[in-house]
Amino acid sequence: MSFPERLWFGYRLWRVLQGPIPDSGSVQYDTHTIMLQESQHPADKADTLVHELLHIIAYEYALFDDDDHEERVVTAMANGLIQLLVRNPDLGRYLLETTNDHSRPSDLHHGSDDWHA
Ligand SMILES: [Zn+2]
Repeated sequence: MSFPERLWFGYRLWRVLQGPIPDSGSVQYDTHTIMLQESQHPADKADTLVHELLHIIAYEYALFDDDDHEERVVTAMANGLIQLLVRNPDLGRYLLETTNDHSRPSDLHHGSDDWHA
């Protein structure tokens, strides 16, 4: 599995860079860049990536007024998501298969007549 160097969220394309930064990770909202500490263990780097992505989600949906509260929630949710996905690998595959299935376009048109009812 290759490292995700670019990720779409909404209409923005985020770059994911690795380097010798002081923290484990950070988000630069003005340049749409996620920075990860390159020397982390790969498992910790994955957790940090999820952590920074949750900051982006919180930012995009204006979830928090308080930075400390955001940090606690983002840390807990990132750790929880990683634990769930690591301990239940079929869960990740199920989520991908059911939310990214464009192979059955006829299903998308089910009930489309109801729009005009
Ligand atoms: Zn954080």
